[in-house]
Amino acid sequence: MERKRSVYMDHAATTPVRPEVARAMLPYFSERFGNPSSLYSLAREAQEALEEARGRVAAAIGATPAEVYFTSGGTEADNWAIKGTALRGKGDHIITSAIEHHAVLHTCRSLEKQGYRVTYLPVDEFGRVEPGAVEEAITDRTILVSVMAANNEIGTIQPVRAIAEIAHDHTIPFHTDAVQAIGAFPVDVDEMGADLLALSAHKFGGPKGTGALYVRRGTRIGTFMDGGAQERGKRAGTENVPGIVGLGRAIELAIAGMPQNAPRLAAMRDRLIRGILDAIPDTRLNGHPTERLANNVNVAFRYVEGESILLMLDALGIAASTGSACTSASLEPSHVLTSCGLPPEHAHGSLRLTLGYANTGEDIDYVLEVLPGIIERLREISPLRGEA
Ligand SMILES: *Cc1c(COP(=O)(O)O)cnc(C)c1O
Repeated sequence: MERKRSVYMDHAATTPVRPEVARAMLPYFSERFGNPSSLYSLAREAQEALEEARGRVAAAIGATPAEVYFTSGGTEADNWAIKGTALRGKGDHIITSAIEHHAVLHTCRSLEKQGYRVTYLPVDEFGRVEPGAVEEAITDRTILVSVMAANNEIGTIQPVRAIAEIAHDHTIPFHTDAVQAIGAFPVDVDEMGADLLALSAHKFGGPKGTGALYVRRGTRIGTFMDGGAQERGKRAGTENVPGIVGLGRAIELAIAGMPQNAPRLAAMRDRLIRGILDAIPDTRLNGHPTERLANNVNVAFRYVEGESILLMLDALGIAASTGSACTSASLEPSHVLTSCGLPPEHAHGSLRLTLGYANTGEDIDYVLEVLPGIIERLREISPLRGEA
């Protein structure tokens, strides 16, 4: 009997911790467990490990260590960037895009309930924000422009530099959620024009529950967590030392591996996209054909439900996603796909396959071998197909 394969293709949701990262973290759970704020050698070891990790994160994004603040992940970094700016800003208007991660969208919605006004910029059919639309949306009350570097569902890469320049022409700070960008393509805060930038360790081979917010020197931002004096008095709470050590090691490895990894993933991505579109009729690619994350495949199959595809793939050992992991519990088509104007007959049948460095050409072969049969079977029993 054929042994069941196990193929993980949901790296936009999370990635496995790399063995080197886990090894680097381990001592900080046990023999080096000190609280970095204490005043003895054990604490100093932890303090030094924090600062070493801060240096690694700073180097990875072209920042200085003093501009890096550790957080509990991408969600906290996005919340802090936006709410922290709202708290300090002189106006009450925020500009973002319609296809942001919920960490940004729901933060904006919560500010709207407190009286702030938010412009959700539309995107084109490929999920791109038109920089000119930012210019038009700016008012003298605008305190922040926040547009993600790359989208987690459809992989579309945004023209963030052009958007940042427009914000800066009006002396408005620019925040970017770069959670999906780190390790996928070079991220440099100066080149991007980012004043604030969010990143998360578990999206590039680090542990869950650890991330960072970059805050450009001179950017006005309020504290987010009140309490002790950790993180230069900006983010209270005893630091997650093992997690931060893991973040530092993971970002270093992700950046170092990028030159080999990115082209390899892009080649596998393109083979997967071409293979699916060639073999399965009534299928379309979601997201941008070229301005796209190297590891992202997102396709929509007419007449089928994404959830059914996932169940059948799972039975064959393939882990994938439909829409975003955060929306998979709801039956609404994802806000990203609907914002791109995906026709309703396609919106429910989307499949996201996101590759990682452990994926091989054989994994691609396997998906291309089983997927056409799955879609065919689902279409045979699909009530949506009646009128076709
Ligand atoms: C995963 C993700 C987040 C949230 O990061 P967490 O560390 O899981 O809180 C935010 N934005 C994007 C684009 C993401 O992909």
